[in-house]
Amino acid sequence: MTRKKMIKKGSSSSTFTYAPALESSALVKLKKGHQLFINGRFVPAADHTTMNSINPATGKLLTKFSVAKKRDADKAVQAATKAYHNVWSKMPGIERGKYLFRISRILQIRAKEFAVLESLDSGKPIKESRDFDIPLAAAHFFYYAGWADKLNYCVPGQQVSSLGVVGQIIPWNFPLLMAAWKIAPALAAGNCVVLKPAETTPLTALLLAEVCQEAELPPGVVNIITGPATTGQALVNHPAIKKIAFTGSTEVGKLIAKTCAEQGKLVTLELGGKSANIVFEDAAIDQAIEGIVNGIYFNQGQVCCAGSRLLVEESIQETIIKKLKRRINTLRIGDPMDKNTDIGAINSAEQFQKIKKLVKAGKAEGGYFYESTSPLPSVGFFHRPCFISQQSSANLLNRVEVFGPVLSIQSFRTPDEAIAKANDTPYGLAAGIWSDKGSKIQHIAQALKAGVIWANTYNKFDPAAPFGGYKESGIGREGGLHGLLPYLEIKS
Ligand code: NAP
Ligand code: MG
Repeated sequence: MTRKKMIKKGSSSSTFTYAPALESSALVKLKKGHQLFINGRFVPAADHTTMNSINPATGKLLTKFSVAKKRDADKAVQAATKAYHNVWSKMPGIERGKYLFRISRILQIRAKEFAVLESLDSGKPIKESRDFDIPLAAAHFFYYAGWADKLNYCVPGQQVSSLGVVGQIIPWNFPLLMAAWKIAPALAAGNCVVLKPAETTPLTALLLAEVCQEAELPPGVVNIITGPATTGQALVNHPAIKKIAFTGSTEVGKLIAKTCAEQGKLVTLELGGKSANIVFEDAAIDQAIEGIVNGIYFNQGQVCCAGSRLLVEESIQETIIKKLKRRINTLRIGDPMDKNTDIGAINSAEQFQKIKKLVKAGKAEGGYFYESTSPLPSVGFFHRPCFISQQSSANLLNRVEVFGPVLSIQSFRTPDEAIAKANDTPYGLAAGIWSDKGSKIQHIAQALKAGVIWANTYNKFDPAAPFGGYKESGIGREGGLHGLLPYLEIKS
């Protein structure tokens, strides 16, 4: 069948048929139970409680992991404090940098193992964990390794010093990458850390703990404690922790900010978003379609900076919708371990239910709704990529962060209207602008209240580029020099 006929036929036959190209899950050796990483060793939780880690593509148990309570958090913070005073704070920056280079190199060597484990635990397509998450995590360690011996050049003319022990709490959408964003700058700045991964995706952080052992990182410099929200609370409330670095929902971020303010702790927050992807009629339309698809359907839309609000110039709205319908029917939904899969599984049953509930409520408000016609696997948490066109900024799906493959579409007539609509949100994490006029892009970019703005592209990341948000998208930046400064005190 020709490609044209396939597309015309619609439904599942609109995608090319490929033979399955499964990545081997034998590349990882799953233990029966995973323990906490404290003081350079894997240890069980004091009361031996465990939780299950599930493969969201099958709904089946992958393995169990330890649940850290207050006593375990205490042990981890004590180990970090000892390592900070006895070893890490005394070590010259050039030596600390060597450990970070080593971690980066080992991540590169073991990249395939990490990619497979990330896809099994999180449900993201193997091509994304292999080509995005893992290489970028290694790049972050590599980048910050270079800063470790140059701290006195961070703030020209001033001296800087490390903070001490830092508590770090991360979400489940980019598990290893978020761990790298947190650990690499903290260590380069001379701090020791206790990190808590999300309860649905603890496994690659624990594999990173093995990498720390392999790199012979001094015990206690990195500690990883797993468990639910209460494990995070034990860290946030710990009196010996100097700073909390948090990535997650705005709701939890606000609670953490309040506690840190009361306890005099430093805090940085990377929170949610409802980012606008703005397409003008003078844009290269087919490229913009790719940017729209990448912006919202990458990682099943579970991306803080997802281009979840498409703002399209009225004159091209029909064309864009027609092309988008065609394009989302070519996205392959299925086994995350298949190298041909574009859309993998939603991370957890809970998130899956949340997306379905929001879509149902959004559809009930009216507008034009369309979803891909591709078949779904019979097991696991899979959601079809979809979009809804509704004109009012008050509509639920134009306001709320869904964190799923759900795009909302609004039109605009003038650049000013596009700016007003883009900024009409409590968030301000990212935005995309599509136009062939450089001056127009500059003008719009200046007016947008968002921390990261992409021009004629979307979801491009570099360890040297600061990332973070305005308004309810957070406080502070990660990446680049700006991501290093919150881990340092400045002495004038
Ligand atoms: P979440 O529910 O806020 O959880 C984030 C982390 O905090 C998890 O490890 C969670 O543990 C823990 N936690 C939950 N309640 C806590 C509490 N009261 N005290 C201390 N820790 C607590 O967020 P999520 O659903 O995992 O992640 C999705 C959110 O993250 C989205 O809003 C997304 O936009 C945001 N995000 C932002 C960025 C950014 O850079 N701006 C990047 C990625 C994601 P459990 O896993 O056990 O619940
Ligand atoms: Mg899991």
